[in-house]
Amino acid sequence: MSFSAEVKNELCKKKPQNLCCPKAECYGMLLFGRSFNEAGISLTTESGAAAQRAAQMTAEMTGAIVSTRTVLRRASHPASVVSVDDEWDRQRVLDFFGHTGREVTLRLNRANLENDCCPAAFLRGAFLSCGTVVNPQKDYRLEFVVPRMHLSRDMAALLDELPVTLLPGVSQRKGTYVVYIKGADRVSDLLTLMGAPKAAMEIMQMKMLREVRNQINRQTNFETANLDKTASAAARQIHALQGLLDSGAGLAVLPEDLRELARLRYENPELSLRELGEKLSPPLSRSGVNHRLQRITELAEKLRP
Ligand SMILES: [Zn+2]
Repeated sequence: MSFSAEVKNELCKKKPQNLCCPKAECYGMLLFGRSFNEAGISLTTESGAAAQRAAQMTAEMTGAIVSTRTVLRRASHPASVVSVDDEWDRQRVLDFFGHTGREVTLRLNRANLENDCCPAAFLRGAFLSCGTVVNPQKDYRLEFVVPRMHLSRDMAALLDELPVTLLPGVSQRKGTYVVYIKGADRVSDLLTLMGAPKAAMEIMQMKMLREVRNQINRQTNFETANLDKTASAAARQIHALQGLLDSGAGLAVLPEDLRELARLRYENPELSLRELGEKLSPPLSRSGVNHRLQRITELAEKLRP
């Protein structure tokens, strides 16, 4: 099941907060459906739970007869079409929400959002009708796909007025308007507000997991870089010593206190400074080894004929 479908299932289990809220939610579902005018009231959704909720709420609230049928949409995905088929019933539904059904441009009628609790219910309805949310493993993005420009602007304005900061954007895609929210925190805030705290939590957990993973990657990169540095220092030392040996001068030209370390380094290119120090007699500290290796390298490079 897609993440969107999971979110819709969770939203459909949400009990309206107050008695005023079902009207707002039902309005959100119908207004953001496929059509909402005297010629047709319908919405299409791939979520069975959303279709059932829309049909039930519309019937209970307005008394209209609501039909639900299944159609095959893209790639043979079954979808449900919820519609009010009778002309008089449609007028009844439109009246109930304060619309004539003959509006040239369909706008959000704020009278249906009676109290401060209602925008959340309205957005839940709109999301059930036209919303998608990207799987948080891929991205943090929630969208309302709206066929009408003015409605998309009304939606963005409403999202902007909420007590949480959502920074909604509107873009155009294939003749529709997409109202979108980006970012783990904001998507999660909106899901919580609409009534899907479980999905919101999932997003925040994914964000944390990703942050930990990035931190580990950075750490690993840092360690790899350090290893490279060590390896290139050792390579330079061995190259210098090799030059000394190739020239026939041999390690004997080095001062006595450096010879043992030079031989150890030459024979053990993979050892760290600490490990080299432990092999010396008497043992030498890491910084002591470092210092002497520098002298060895400089001398070897200079003494090489
Ligand atoms: Zn309310």
